[in-house]
Amino acid sequence: MTDTTWVKVLMDWSAQLERELPWREKSPRDPYRVWISEIMLQQTRTEAVKPYFNTWMEKFPTVHALAEASEAEVLHAWQGLGYYSRARNIHAAAREMDSHYGGRVPDELKVVESLPGIGSYTAGAILSIAYGKRTSAVDGNVLRIYARLYGIEEDILKAKGRRQVMNCVEQTLPEDAGSFNEALMDLGQEVCIPRFPRCSECPIASWCRAHREGKEKELPVRTKKKRQETLYLAAALILRHGAFLMHKRPEKGMLASMWEFPMVLAHTPEEAERELGRRWNCRLEGPVWKHRHVFSHRIWNMNAYVAAPAVQEPMGKDYAFFTPEEYRNIPLAGPHARLAAWAEKLVLE
Ligand code: SF4
Repeated sequence: MTDTTWVKVLMDWSAQLERELPWREKSPRDPYRVWISEIMLQQTRTEAVKPYFNTWMEKFPTVHALAEASEAEVLHAWQGLGYYSRARNIHAAAREMDSHYGGRVPDELKVVESLPGIGSYTAGAILSIAYGKRTSAVDGNVLRIYARLYGIEEDILKAKGRRQVMNCVEQTLPEDAGSFNEALMDLGQEVCIPRFPRCSECPIASWCRAHREGKEKELPVRTKKKRQETLYLAAALILRHGAFLMHKRPEKGMLASMWEFPMVLAHTPEEAERELGRRWNCRLEGPVWKHRHVFSHRIWNMNAYVAAPAVQEPMGKDYAFFTPEEYRNIPLAGPHARLAAWAEKLVLE
């Protein structure tokens, strides 16, 4: 029989934390706010999410308002959070909710899970926190906590390890699953963190097997990630009458439909520079700006060059000139937003 005394201890600890999180402000909890916050919090730190969440709610206060927005508005509001497919999925799911579910987040697990971008973790979080249902919400934090707490030595990224964790979760899930899931989130974000867990501050340390056996840094076991691919990017700053030439990325693939400075990617910086000069048939000055951007699977080492090619019009619908004032309002592809912010001074000079 599993000892579940720690469950109440953990929930009491979480209740007295009183974390100031904008998505936890309203009571009863709004499923729309829970959903958006959970998607934003995937891969992004809580503190970084807060301003995005507040701006998002001002712009799109309801599912209906979000469904009515254009893709460009949604991507622009998401700009800086990365993983733009999440924003596209949110938008698509909002449109489905608006047309089929009366502009509400549905309250049935199977239905919620079938919506774009909502996996079992997010669905479990929404149903337990906003609708009071007894559902679990298992993400990387929860896998890590349970692997340590119960000393699970199987790889948590493989089916067997995950199954062991799921069994423990099922046996320990209380009626008030929403508060419990949030308490696990708090513990995973504040105390039982990935590399150096703060066991001396942990409210459930006396129940933790990994801590007892000195294995808290060894667990959880997880398969090593593949190494990230490093690429070199050369971007052209082509300025004409106070506006920069920009290119819209294809509708599918990485950073889809977002705007960027004309660029090439290559395996060496020399190759990238050469190819950029060749493509625009002009001499490049610089690099005038450098940046290293780390995505989940690749790294871009970026160099930007001032270029003055003889641009022929029309250039096709994927190219357009934007002044800094204009490009502040279009979705810019990840690191190109940084370059855009820097490049504004070239217009003022
Ligand atoms: S005692 Fe340490 S390893 Fe165990 S749950 Fe608490 S923080 Fe995590």
